[in-house]
Amino acid sequence: MLIKKPILLHYYITYSCNCCCTFCDIWRTPKYSSGHDAQIQDVEKNLKSAYKIGTRFVDFTGGEPLLHPDLPFMLKAAKSIGYRTSITTNCKLYPKRARELAGLVDLLHFSLDAVSPELHNSIRGCNVFSHVMESIDTARFLNEKPDILFTVTDQNADHLEKLALFCKKTGLLLLVNPVFNHYSINRLEGRSLTKIFDLSKSQNVYINKALLKLNLAGGNSIRNPRCRAVSSTVVISPQNELLLPCFHFYTEKFPISTSLEKLFMTKSYIHFRSMQGRFDFCQGCNLNCYFDPSFLYKLDRYFMDSLLAKAGYMWHKHIKPFFVPAHLDRRPADKIMAEITETTADKTCSRHIAAI
Ligand code: SF4
Ligand code: SF4
Repeated sequence: MLIKKPILLHYYITYSCNCCCTFCDIWRTPKYSSGHDAQIQDVEKNLKSAYKIGTRFVDFTGGEPLLHPDLPFMLKAAKSIGYRTSITTNCKLYPKRARELAGLVDLLHFSLDAVSPELHNSIRGCNVFSHVMESIDTARFLNEKPDILFTVTDQNADHLEKLALFCKKTGLLLLVNPVFNHYSINRLEGRSLTKIFDLSKSQNVYINKALLKLNLAGGNSIRNPRCRAVSSTVVISPQNELLLPCFHFYTEKFPISTSLEKLFMTKSYIHFRSMQGRFDFCQGCNLNCYFDPSFLYKLDRYFMDSLLAKAGYMWHKHIKPFFVPAHLDRRPADKIMAEITETTADKTCSRHIAAI
């Protein structure tokens, strides 16, 4: 049965970040540089209100969510209401804060975009590769189950296979996230998309083929929109505003002075829902974070591909480990990574570093 209500809450708790990734516009866009971080009282209120509307998954995001001192309290509040929680971190602060977060994050994502420190650090605009390695060791020690989130660009697509091998050895799942085109960022070249398709049969890799097919089709069409950003997702800013129609291209921000339920009945909200995917800026859009849930709101080939991808994730993450014991490499992550990069001479990597 198709979902009717919004299922996902993207809660932006801060716009601050301690990295400046090449594919991210948050750190370089003036509209994100002012204002305060999310207040715990607002977060608690909105979590309850959004749950009544139907949201069941909350992603505490930013900026770098671990920069917010109250993140553990927000996660606890969400869990006590019944949410499944997720965060994605660049890992700079994870080793320091891991114990505060242990047991509170259902989907914990560590960003890692290359097997070489040089390329990863230059993509991320900060020296963070060693923190990712340390975070993996820390999470394994605490029995947390992180996934590696690899944002694929044309610069790092050659690293896909080696990163998949690293994940296999360490027992982590590799989530492949094709970079989306927005502002100065261009969509992936066909060569990079082919590399992702080639990897899609690998056991420990999550690739939503619906996203790849959307990319190959040129993204969203405003004549026949596939986007269901407003129907599927609630987006809240650190300054306690509802952003519409989506975070990256919001044109309206409504202060949440009353409950979300009331805002959802306003003419403005209904207008944005009727216009999702139809604005001029929606042409060619391929924003993963909105299409991933959007695919579940219309019965078509994207729906089926997306459902299969999610079933595969559940199988590899939660079911298979009970039946098939994994033979994991228990050495520190940096040793495993060094071995992978040494045994597979990394000529392409150095070429890409030079290009950045
Ligand atoms: S870590 Fe995240 S928020 Fe920070 S610059 Fe990179 S992509 Fe943007
Ligand atoms: S198509 Fe893209 S830009 Fe338009 S509403 Fe959907 S997610 Fe936002």
